[in-house]
Amino acid sequence: MTWSIWHVSPFITGVFFILGIFTLYQVLYDGLKTFLHSKKINVDDDKLNSAFGVLYMLIFIFSMQATLVGTPISWQFMNFQLIALVFCAYFLNIRVPFFVFFPIMILYMMFNGSIGYWESWCHGFTLMLFYLSLNQLRRDQKINRSFIAYMSLGTFFGGLLWLFMKVKFDFSWSTYLQEWLYLIIFEALLFSYVGMILRDSQLKLKLLRFANHDALTKTENFAAYKSEMDRLFSNSTVNKLDLSMMMFDIDHFKQVNDTYGHLAGDKVLQHVVDVVQTVISENDPNVKLYRTGGEEFNVIFPGYDLDATEPIVHQIFAALNHIDVEINGQKINITISVGVSMISKKDSQPNDFYSRVDGNLYHSKRNGRKQITAL
Ligand code: GH3
Ligand code: MG
Ligand code: MG
Repeated sequence: MTWSIWHVSPFITGVFFILGIFTLYQVLYDGLKTFLHSKKINVDDDKLNSAFGVLYMLIFIFSMQATLVGTPISWQFMNFQLIALVFCAYFLNIRVPFFVFFPIMILYMMFNGSIGYWESWCHGFTLMLFYLSLNQLRRDQKINRSFIAYMSLGTFFGGLLWLFMKVKFDFSWSTYLQEWLYLIIFEALLFSYVGMILRDSQLKLKLLRFANHDALTKTENFAAYKSEMDRLFSNSTVNKLDLSMMMFDIDHFKQVNDTYGHLAGDKVLQHVVDVVQTVISENDPNVKLYRTGGEEFNVIFPGYDLDATEPIVHQIFAALNHIDVEINGQKINITISVGVSMISKKDSQPNDFYSRVDGNLYHSKRNGRKQITAL
């Protein structure tokens, strides 16, 4: 084997080419996503995946075809192009309506010099039907993807598409069968490969969620609080923005556990979170609640000074102190003690700010509980 001649069959090269194209896609998409997230640019990951997916695949299809335009073998990369199409239609599930698909198809036929051939038109319309069927199939089986249904569609449309190409370019039946078979193998390979990648990224998402959320109340936990506070603190210091924080602790919670049992205590905690989240969502979704300890919670108010926090803090305070939590027919009454403060020029690190809020909470506790200390 020399540098210029690789004694590997085109089929094997094709397999690795396809895997390479999708791996490169995944790496570029992950890089782009990480970059945008690090710059705090808010984009919907699914929309980004769709937009980037279409762009990547169009560049891939057109640039590959550019090397073959006008030659008698301009069908040679068709399997790769079909695989790219299957990826967009089924795996990324990008909806491309007729009025977008049609002009792309015409553009492609013009580019490829095949617009005058009836076979190419049949091919184009079949392709459109193939795309929409894959779209529909994926929509029907959102969760359980069926290999058999996917392969049946892929095999049927693949055979039909290659038939039009056989008639147009008049290659042999054995070439026709071979290309069709390769396509079927590529489609099967794509199904298992993408399935593997998706499983991996879903697992990553699950782990991330697990690491940042509290299992009992489903609020974000101390780890999430810490990283968000570090970010907001430096952002507020650099850009001279206001930042306030409320911290509260349930009074005599040990007694709730001792009197009604630990499970009842757990339900009280879930109820507290529901109440606070309701108050927050009625006011400002940018305000965020964290469970930072057993029965201790922090609420971060980005862009708020002390006065601006007051109405929301009072609403939370009143809501929790006045609502009885009904558990197993028993009414449990709770109260909370609160500390509030805002960021000051003297704070050189997030912990300085945190200590002042904590000190205010401690002050509320020492002075008889069920009260707010804000300074
Ligand atoms: P104080 O008014 O001074 O805050 O009194 P307290 O009893 O609330 O304070 P303390 O810190 O002594 O007790 C907190 C209790 O919270 C102890 C612990 O059993 C309970 N706790 C912490 N996490 C959980 C939890 O996840 N579920 C339940 N049921 N109880 C919890
Ligand atoms: Mg307590
Ligand atoms: Mg406590």
